[in-house]
Amino acid sequence: MANKQPTILKFGGTSVGDTKAFDRVASIILDRMEALPVVVVSAMSGVTDALLGSVRMAADGFIDEAIRSLEPDFERHLTVVKNLCNRETAEVGRTLDDARRSISSQLHLLSQQPRALRRLQDEIVSHGERLSAMVLTKVLRERGLAAAHVDARRCIITDEEHGCAGPLWPETELHTKAEVEPLLDDSIVPVLGGFIGATTSGLTTTLGRGGSDFTAALVGAALSAREIQIWTDVTGVLTADPRLVKSARTITRLSYAEAAELAYFGAKVLHPKTVHPAVDRGIPIRICNSRAPLETGTIIGHESEISPRGIKAIAHKTGITTLQISSGRMLGAYGFLRSLFEVFERHRTVVDVVTTSEVSVSLSLDNPSALSAILNDLEQLGTVEIENHRAIICVVGEGLRSTSGIAGRVFGTLRDINISLISQGASRINLTFVIDEAHVEEAVSRLHKAFFEADLEETGAGTETATYEGTVRTSS
Ligand code: ADP
Ligand code: ASP
Ligand code: MG
Repeated sequence: MANKQPTILKFGGTSVGDTKAFDRVASIILDRMEALPVVVVSAMSGVTDALLGSVRMAADGFIDEAIRSLEPDFERHLTVVKNLCNRETAEVGRTLDDARRSISSQLHLLSQQPRALRRLQDEIVSHGERLSAMVLTKVLRERGLAAAHVDARRCIITDEEHGCAGPLWPETELHTKAEVEPLLDDSIVPVLGGFIGATTSGLTTTLGRGGSDFTAALVGAALSAREIQIWTDVTGVLTADPRLVKSARTITRLSYAEAAELAYFGAKVLHPKTVHPAVDRGIPIRICNSRAPLETGTIIGHESEISPRGIKAIAHKTGITTLQISSGRMLGAYGFLRSLFEVFERHRTVVDVVTTSEVSVSLSLDNPSALSAILNDLEQLGTVEIENHRAIICVVGEGLRSTSGIAGRVFGTLRDINISLISQGASRINLTFVIDEAHVEEAVSRLHKAFFEADLEETGAGTETATYEGTVRTSS
């Protein structure tokens, strides 16, 4: 490839929801041709949910209903093409018919082979991204751009963990370069569907909900991109989830570590796995608003200013289950924690927050699907108390390392709310705790008021610069 670094432009489902949205996206790409765009696109908004819904219906034996339920979504794709394209509409109609037929036969298969559900589900759900990428390619071509749809399953090579597949790195790098670089050499804009991949034997896989951001980062790393741009429906990463806090505002700069913590603890704007491939290659990630492309969003990189407030943002995650395991055997014994965590490993369940005392361990899970099997095993180790409907709140900022009094201020603000599992992450840039889910809106709003809407002078902190590795130096 010529010695030019491409820029990855990833558009989420909300950025390709309808005709107007596709038109905006095409303009954004056309305006950035000098940046050598490689486009990654999610399924149209709501399509992945609809496809998953059809899988559930078919698994319950309602196959005809399952197939019928998808019709409005097929129509949405056709409407966009009819509104924006004069050419190639018949070809799009044929592609949609192929997708209908293929999904329909997979839904039939699924009702006969329940054990193949996860594999067939990935196959069915992958049509969302395949169709949106095909439609966007047509729209770009109609606007006079040389664009080509690249089947992302030929680029992102994964393990066989259907529904949450992990990429195999050397293979993904090799295949992505082989598929995409020749197009760039010929000045053709490659358009890939996000979220989807394939095993080495060619079975379709998906990377987990919201996984198109991860695709963008993988493609960016494989091509040593200049920048990975995540185009969404808000102007960058905000100080809190805007659905909870109307006055949340854009954070101009975040370190990779800050962004990773926020994403992990619930800031949906970025998939938690996105940061890792970018850090490895030192590629900046920019979060931009496809509805307001001229606004400056958030840039994520090695360097980040330390906010005078100490923290940069508040993330939260609901639907959390906490477990407390108590056992006298733990006292002064070694090997107990290993046996405990082996239970979660065995049941492939991720643990988020952990705190320990002399004779008990408390921890939180956000995926309780294997809970009853986990409880069975844990009861061999001690007595187990379980609480559902909990929420994790996480305040994040490089300033937590160097600003005193933040924890006192957080807990003072929430003094009448019951708090458990308090933990400061090993990176020392987050303070995490668990509360009852019913209080989450109140708690996040109060914290936002205290840290982002109150008088700054109270904090008394100066502006500093931090690096990902954690070296802090004063810049003012
Ligand atoms: P996309 O379809 O572009 O992938 P997502 O819905 O996955 O978009 O992510 C964008 C949404 O993330 C926003 O609309 C917002 O509601 C939510 N969100 C949660 N926390 C934050 C945050 N701290 N900053 C920005 N957005 C957030
Ligand atoms: N379409 C997938 C989802 O809805 C992936 C994504 O949007 O990032 O989860
Ligand atoms: Mg998303």
